[in-house]
Amino acid sequence: MKLGLFINNKSEENRGGTPQLLVNPATEETFAEVSGAAIKDCERAVNGAETAYRQTWRNLAPGKRAEILFAIAREIRLRLEELAQLETQNIGKPISDARDEIGLGARVFEYYAGAVGKFYGQTIPVARGGFDFTLREPLGVVAAIVPWNFPFPITCWKVAPALAAGNTVILKPASLSPVTALKLGEICAQAGLPEGVLQIVPGSGKSIGDFLVQHPLIRKISFTGSTEIGVRIMEQGAKTLKRISLELGGKSPNIIFADADIQKAAASAPMSVFANTGQDCCARSRVFVEEKVFDSFVEKFLEATKKLVVADPTDSKTELGPLVSKGQREAVEDFLKGLDSTRHKVLCGGDRPGSKGFFLNPALVMGCETGDRIWNEEVFGPVVCIRSFRDEKQLVEEINASSYGLSGSIWTSDLFRALRMARSVESGVLSINSHSSVHVEAPFGGYKMSGIGRDLGMTAMEGYTELKNVYISDL
Ligand code: NAP
Repeated sequence: MKLGLFINNKSEENRGGTPQLLVNPATEETFAEVSGAAIKDCERAVNGAETAYRQTWRNLAPGKRAEILFAIAREIRLRLEELAQLETQNIGKPISDARDEIGLGARVFEYYAGAVGKFYGQTIPVARGGFDFTLREPLGVVAAIVPWNFPFPITCWKVAPALAAGNTVILKPASLSPVTALKLGEICAQAGLPEGVLQIVPGSGKSIGDFLVQHPLIRKISFTGSTEIGVRIMEQGAKTLKRISLELGGKSPNIIFADADIQKAAASAPMSVFANTGQDCCARSRVFVEEKVFDSFVEKFLEATKKLVVADPTDSKTELGPLVSKGQREAVEDFLKGLDSTRHKVLCGGDRPGSKGFFLNPALVMGCETGDRIWNEEVFGPVVCIRSFRDEKQLVEEINASSYGLSGSIWTSDLFRALRMARSVESGVLSINSHSSVHVEAPFGGYKMSGIGRDLGMTAMEGYTELKNVYISDL
């Protein structure tokens, strides 16, 4: 398969940018070649998006904009199986998860199609009579820079609200996962999105990412990725005072109180950290278990983990596929190599299940201390650390000492404890007696080094607009 840029509603292959070979992480075979965008292509894309913004998209009646977004959602659903198969080949995601994620992308377009006509300003009673009201106006050209772990849904939850609010978009997919993003371009064109409204420029973040972040015509960068690159984007974007939203890394807790339904908590724990082979910013990779139930919880957690199906991601029964790349598996193994055998205990996993593909069995690690690298840093792979706790207040202090604050779960049957914990834990997203973090209708994002701004829900629409205040004199 050969893929290229998507500019002004046309696919462009072999434009002279650096070609990149995509490797299927389950088979280690090359399955596609993508010709990356050169800087001159990005310049063309930005100029085309600026023209489309001024001449067509921002002036289109909201109803027409909504109609096109609904048509995009319909087309995604029609091509769901094809897109899911491509995602699985590209990044090794289990096919059942890939199907869910493509469906989620369609749902995101439907939600924001519905939001187009419901995004109101306000009327404000001002001191001296007259009439005062606010307008929500699009920003202009927005750039979305996305990671490889959930390529399709994250792309949709940036592109859909940006378009719904009247902006045009430059999309830069991750170098490892451009396939479904480029297919989204085709889908949008088929659904009637005017030329230039969505431009897709695959290629290296170092060169074209940096270029987009500094481009004066780009009004906002909506980024999901590592904290390191997020910080860089903020620095580089400061010169042109970019609007910026950053969804970054995490090291999220899974907290099990003795009064919880231990059976349910233990059954949920494996997929709360190992889903997507642990390559999930919301992975509950630090488990805190109240001392009284520690042994029984760990026994059940271990048993459930050993039952996980780590296998060929094209099989519908597979729960964990390979890691995305050779380098990613080695980075995860590095964390395990750094363990101290006199103190740490690996209860299971951490080994390679076969010789083909970048697979790694999920690992449960005990004996961690607060200074350990594996305890503090985002592993981004199938590794979890488990510790016990005695005191709720100390527990909260320890959790809040982390520089991250993205997600987390609290398991308890005491409603007052649940509310107390929900207020005390510094995190953008929390779930009680559940491990779900993402709802299309609700804001998603992090505290502290986990990010700035929110994706999803109506809050995301606010982030893609400027707020204008208008006063009409009663003279
Ligand atoms: P990454 O290395 O930060 O890359 C993310 C995106 O940024 C890619 O498209 C990358 O392009 C691009 N990029 C790289 N250098 C850049 C630069 N100097 N300027 C502009 N863009 C640049 O992250 P990743 O490894 O793809 O993803 C894993 C990280 O994402 C983890 O830390 C994870 O926690 C985080 N994440 C967060 C969320 C959330 O919602 N909070 C969700 C998912 C993932 P290339 O691919 O070409 O390098």
